[in-house]
Amino acid sequence: METIILGAGAGGLTLALRLALRGDHVTLVERAAEPGGLAAGFAVGDTTLDKFYHHLFRSDRAIIALLNEIRLGDDLIWGTPDTSVLVGGKTRTLNSVSSVLKFSPISPIARVRMGAVVGVLKLWPHYQSLQDQPAAAWMRRWMGQGAYDKVWGPQLRGKFGDHADEISMAWMWARLHYRTTQLGYLRGGFQRFYDRMAELIGALDGKLHFETTATRIHPLRDKKIRVETTAGDLTGQRVISTLPTRVTMKLLPTLPTFQRRYEWGDAYGAHCLILALDRQLMERVYWLSICDPDYPFLALVEHTNFIPPAEYGGRHLIYLGNYLPMDHPLFRQSKEAVIAAYLPAIKRINPAFSLDWVGESWMFAAPYAQPIVTPEYHRHIPPHDLPIPGVYLANMFQVYPQDRGQNYAVDMANWLAGQLHERDS
Ligand SMILES: Cc1cc2nc3c(=O)[nH]c(=O)nc-3n(C[C@H](O)[C@H](O)[C@H](O)COP(=O)(O)OP(=O)(O)OC[C@H]3O[C@@H](n4cnc5c(N)ncnc54)[C@H](O)[C@@H]3O)c2cc1C
Repeated sequence: METIILGAGAGGLTLALRLALRGDHVTLVERAAEPGGLAAGFAVGDTTLDKFYHHLFRSDRAIIALLNEIRLGDDLIWGTPDTSVLVGGKTRTLNSVSSVLKFSPISPIARVRMGAVVGVLKLWPHYQSLQDQPAAAWMRRWMGQGAYDKVWGPQLRGKFGDHADEISMAWMWARLHYRTTQLGYLRGGFQRFYDRMAELIGALDGKLHFETTATRIHPLRDKKIRVETTAGDLTGQRVISTLPTRVTMKLLPTLPTFQRRYEWGDAYGAHCLILALDRQLMERVYWLSICDPDYPFLALVEHTNFIPPAEYGGRHLIYLGNYLPMDHPLFRQSKEAVIAAYLPAIKRINPAFSLDWVGESWMFAAPYAQPIVTPEYHRHIPPHDLPIPGVYLANMFQVYPQDRGQNYAVDMANWLAGQLHERDS
């Protein structure tokens, strides 16, 4: 079977590997110069760092199994780095029962209540009973106004802005249910995983076209499908798009009924400023969620408080991240302007910080990086089979109720490749 796969991120590469292992002639079409999609890296010294902060959870079974299968599992570094929140100008750890019980911005009774509700959500398996309710209202009701105001409300607003009150409780459930305090990172960056996948697909005679954008998908008469790209046309019997649903729809002939139902909802873009410092910024914290108002970023991730600076030639690496509507002015600002805008806020976190600490800096942005998962979302998740025979969809917007993730892209790809193989045989 001649299979063309659009997108060489976690999903596209896993599909390509699985189908190539089963005898398909696979061709991957990728707009970027390298594999990896949202989890791709860039060179820092003689290693790579992810353009957007990434780690795994112990519950990310599909990707852990795949890393083991392709002999990278031994390079997974596991640890319990400090994850904290910034509330009332103070950094406070909030990743264990004891840290919840010591969380002084809310009353002792509110702490017990918050801890108990998190515990119930960790055990409660039925997200379906929660999915039609907004998380904001649910959290206020069950965790109390204090916990909502100090912790959950600011995080929802930080991530979803004006949509904060509309996010489904199923999304919140999945974050609390599946996430572990143990985190994993691939030594040398996740780019190693994607490079290895691309190498294995090449070794199975798969073809990889980088810096090639798919511009059109045309069904032909003889059950074949033509994909037009910026580097010429390709023809196959099957096309699988891992591109966002809206982007995929633009490539296809008009499908009014399908589009009305599934070309639906909003997504935010991701923006990250990365600074290489000559010293540590935060004493111990790896992940800091900003819950105080008036900060220009929603998370500060000191990567080298998890993975030692020695791995990066002694650099201390911090990410300052945001999710925002794709037309937000931040996406048009120069790196220098963003650094200047963030400087006072970084100084509020560590008053000693100065621009003299900064060596290199980088800035990355990506569209369609965070689906807005409202209570109606699940009614608009497209099926994998598109209305055009032989054309399939397997993207981040079909991951539900979990909040995206490399693991879920791999899991979905494993599943779809298995289904297609069964149909073929
Ligand atoms: C800020 C941020 C933090 C994250 N943190 C984590 C984390 O800690 N852990 C984790 O596991 N996951 C995390 N994720 C999510 C993770 O990156 C994604 O879930 C995963 O990489 C999605 O893989 P994918 O293959 O589905 O999609 P993508 O990675 O989006 O792949 C799609 C590919 O299609 C290509 N493409 C687009 N249009 C075209 C076209 N017309 N023609 C050809 N190619 C095209 C793109 O270049 C891209 O390579 C994070 C994401 C972001 C943005």
